[in-house]
Amino acid sequence: MGLLSGLNGLGLGNFEDMDLYAPPVKDEEEEIPEEKPAAPAKPAAPEIKESDYVFEKSYTCPVCNKEFKALTVKANRARLTGTDRDLRPRYENIEPLKYDVVMCPTCGCASITRYWQGITDAQRKRIKEGISVNFVSKKYTDDTYSFDQALERYQMALANAMVKQAKPAEKAYICLRAGWTLRSRAENLDPDAADYQEEYERTRTMERDFLENALEGFVTARATDTPPICGMDDMTLDYLIAALSVEFGKYEQAAKLVGSLLTNRNISSRMKNKTLELKDDILKATRKK
Ligand SMILES: [Zn+2]
Repeated sequence: MGLLSGLNGLGLGNFEDMDLYAPPVKDEEEEIPEEKPAAPAKPAAPEIKESDYVFEKSYTCPVCNKEFKALTVKANRARLTGTDRDLRPRYENIEPLKYDVVMCPTCGCASITRYWQGITDAQRKRIKEGISVNFVSKKYTDDTYSFDQALERYQMALANAMVKQAKPAEKAYICLRAGWTLRSRAENLDPDAADYQEEYERTRTMERDFLENALEGFVTARATDTPPICGMDDMTLDYLIAALSVEFGKYEQAAKLVGSLLTNRNISSRMKNKTLELKDDILKATRKK
């Protein structure tokens, strides 16, 4: 798997051959409380500099107990300008997804913000043994995170999720957000750069790798977990799985979910419209074949 190919520099090159959705090794089952989803961002006055949208937030590492700071997006500051077909949000002047991983610079414990709280004793031990012993300390000193730093942080979150044997939903959620971050990276590449085409294709290929793994994990989570999954109600999750399925040519799976969404009486008008658009995409794609 190439998802974690960037972690050599952090001392974690051994993650390359690990199976993301390998069944968990038996250990005491412990429930991890999920954080409640944040309130949707309200529009605010546009700003120019990305660093104006972020601040240094203090965290205490649940594994090594050291305090550290990580850049975090200020609440309600960024203005939402739209969403992609697979629900990826787009913001003006900033990519908040770059700031969604909290990572301890001392021991390498990393997680997306949603799952930062609520680590179990068994998981703490696994992270110490599977991450911290090899981790090469990493400090981020700029006032923003670059896309490459953000990717590295997502890879660390994914490595942590694998080591702590997180549920498929958590791994899928990391892959989804990493994939979206890579799409954003591709969109923000300088088209005048000499290696633009090469970098664009490399980035979009990585995006697809992550999103394909996200799809696999969400399909498993849907079959095994009870909603809300990663803060998504069952209709949102079904829509997301359908949209990702279309992306990977799994039209039958997508059509099934779209059909059940459109007959659901509780569907919101916004979700219904998006689902109808998706249905059109499925029809167009399957007619061409
Ligand atoms: Zn730590």
